[in-house]
Amino acid sequence: MNNNPYAWINESLATIHRADWYRSVQTIHSRPSATVVLSGQEVINFASNDYLGLAGDERLQTAAIAAIQAFGTGSTGSRLLSGHRELHKELEQEIASTKQTQEALVFSSGYLANLGTISAIVGKRDLILSDEYNHSSLKKGAILSGATIMEYPHNSTALLEEKLQEYRKNYRRCLITTDSVFSMDGDLCPLPQLLDLAEEFNSMLLLDEAHATGVLGKTGAGCVEHFGCTGRELIQIGTLSKALGSLGGYVAGSSSLIDFLRNRAPSWIYTTALSPADTAAALAAMKIVQQEPERRSQLWQNVNYLKQLITENLPNLKLLPTESPILCFQLPSAAAALTAGKHLRASGIFAPAIRPPTVNTSRIRISVMATHELTHLQKLVEVIKSIV
Ligand code: PMP
Repeated sequence: MNNNPYAWINESLATIHRADWYRSVQTIHSRPSATVVLSGQEVINFASNDYLGLAGDERLQTAAIAAIQAFGTGSTGSRLLSGHRELHKELEQEIASTKQTQEALVFSSGYLANLGTISAIVGKRDLILSDEYNHSSLKKGAILSGATIMEYPHNSTALLEEKLQEYRKNYRRCLITTDSVFSMDGDLCPLPQLLDLAEEFNSMLLLDEAHATGVLGKTGAGCVEHFGCTGRELIQIGTLSKALGSLGGYVAGSSSLIDFLRNRAPSWIYTTALSPADTAAALAAMKIVQQEPERRSQLWQNVNYLKQLITENLPNLKLLPTESPILCFQLPSAAAALTAGKHLRASGIFAPAIRPPTVNTSRIRISVMATHELTHLQKLVEVIKSIV
């Protein structure tokens, strides 16, 4: 018998290597921008969630510095103890006003917002119906809740309806969970139909707006605004770390939901409040998103220009259908995706290979930013042309 109880770790690592699933970090040595210095090499950055280019914006930095000077670096405790500041309240009011919900609640990350919310609102006697492509935080939150979990095929409202017909009656509460923009595919969920089904079957709908916040909708309020569903009752989750260029997560919904979460969401109650700097930076970003819609217009112009370039120059590229700044092209294997990623990198393009277990099929994932220049997009297409 092997008497080293830790030996399995190296064995598991070896399995991960054999499957081409091994992942490691890459160091960026410069400010967040459309071009970055990656391990000493200047590259065009298509790997960032900083859709509006706010993570390097001076105004967020100034707000963060002022918050540190006024309130220090740490928030010193959980929100219910010593961690709450006026800044948190201001940010929550700004989010609620953008989302047009009664209230909002800020968490230390989007991941924690999903874990805490899902595990607070459903339990053992309840059912979760989850899109098979949902983000890890929705899936882990579901497991943590102890509810029965059923996955429905990606975006299939017909099969979701079948499950609701068959199983809804056997459970106390039912929660449907979905990404609004699917993070690894870039497509959108069919929100109006999901809301109708939730209503028809007396179920809650939790929508993860992580990649839609600041990006979709006339005012950047997200997918709910994009589909004209503002004001309908649902639970919206999001992050402050992508288009908003800071760190943290949020839940937006009714006052009773938020009040309940303040009393029942463990990942909000038992963790240190979001730092003053992150809170202030996110608040500054929320205001910029409102005041500078031209950033969002520029982002969409870039997305449409890149799609047009791809159609004209790479007619055979297997581009996944997308309605967001996330564009993916599929490759036959993890090894092929890794090789493509390396070629891109050698040619000055940072666009990562995404492969199992993160997704089912291997791909190169391209994130477009408002701050990309036309020459960046042209270079990307030129390089892809040379490798596929
Ligand atoms: N939901 C989705 C769909 C995401 O893509 C992410 C981030 N990758 C999260 C939640 C988690 O957000 P955060 O990074 O703020 O923890």
